[in-house]
Amino acid sequence: MTIMPNSEVQNKNMSKVFIRKSEYNYKTLRPVFFEIMDRTAGNMIQKNSRVVIKPNLLAPSLPEKAIVTHPLIIKAAVEYVLDKEARPVISDSSAIGSFEKIIKESGIRTALEGLKVEYSEFKTSVAVDVGKPFNEIEIAGDAVNADFLINLPKLKTHAQMLLTLGIKNLFGCIVGMKKPEWHFRTGVDREMFARLLVKIYKAVNPSITIMDGILAMQGEGPGKGGEPRHIGVILGSRDTPAVDIAICNMLGISPDSVLTNKSAIEQGLAAEEITFDGDLPEVKDFKLPEIVPLVFGPKRFHGFMRRHLVQRPVCNDSFCKLCGECWNYCPAKAITHDKKKIHFNYEKCIRCYCCIEVCPHGALSAHETLTGKTARRLLKM
Ligand code: SF4
Ligand code: SF4
Repeated sequence: MTIMPNSEVQNKNMSKVFIRKSEYNYKTLRPVFFEIMDRTAGNMIQKNSRVVIKPNLLAPSLPEKAIVTHPLIIKAAVEYVLDKEARPVISDSSAIGSFEKIIKESGIRTALEGLKVEYSEFKTSVAVDVGKPFNEIEIAGDAVNADFLINLPKLKTHAQMLLTLGIKNLFGCIVGMKKPEWHFRTGVDREMFARLLVKIYKAVNPSITIMDGILAMQGEGPGKGGEPRHIGVILGSRDTPAVDIAICNMLGISPDSVLTNKSAIEQGLAAEEITFDGDLPEVKDFKLPEIVPLVFGPKRFHGFMRRHLVQRPVCNDSFCKLCGECWNYCPAKAITHDKKKIHFNYEKCIRCYCCIEVCPHGALSAHETLTGKTARRLLKM
């Protein structure tokens, strides 16, 4: 794959990513957003068509926490759709808290006041045959059948997948508790989970992806454990993997280290050449979460290794509010609680780290066991 800054797209094996500096100042952000839409897929929006806008709505949180797509980016998308005399619908199936609560507490409802927009949580699924090894996947019907879908991810780190970008954002098109079920089915194998995410991306086939990289999240993302980091950039393209690969270049990391990129390349869904319109900033010292290989060696030892060598979720009891998000979400039913604290059953735990992702109080993190550290040192992993 070749990255070609500032050159023109010449054939369909090339994708163009638009990169613009921006801030959360609506006067300047709106024209930037409109320009990207105009120069990519904007003319594909038909009058009266239903346009689904899919932000990252992980949890109720203030915009300055960098957990959700900023309300002003969503506002620009809504206004663009209204400009085209089409019908904007904001949708997601959130991991933590009610959809309504997120819309309200993240400032989205206030930012969109007076605009004719529908809020519609993804609730019903349709079965989509995505081929082997997953075959049928149930994906939100409103996403699959949208006339046009605007994917609005937030640039964030992710304790399990390194970064959560454009492809990963579409996991929100899996309705409610089907999400942890898929984590359980793909288990500890992150490559398998990445393959699943790419299949979902292909099935949803977003018309455009515009990344909110103005206030990104670094460190132990994607939830409260992460740390906001100002970058001041928006990236947009009709090609979601191209946006994700461009982000890796911007952060100075190998595109392959984000497994959804690797899988998209393997599945023939990434362009051979990516061109940039605009300057890709060089972001130095972006803090990534520590990700270690989860399983290695012969398959018959994987169960043992997962239980004894792989990082395990650990709770900082002084932050835990016993809110129940983790034990309700855990796909392996590996978390119990008493009146004072939560307890993990590490025999049952599949190390999917969903609990860390959904904890609204930043109480959970992944810790390596002593045996894991020693084994890794011996094997030089
Ligand atoms: S660890 Fe987090 S999600 Fe689990 S009960 Fe405590 S505060 Fe809630
Ligand atoms: S305890 Fe956490 S990491 Fe383990 S299976 Fe449950 S959600 Fe996944």
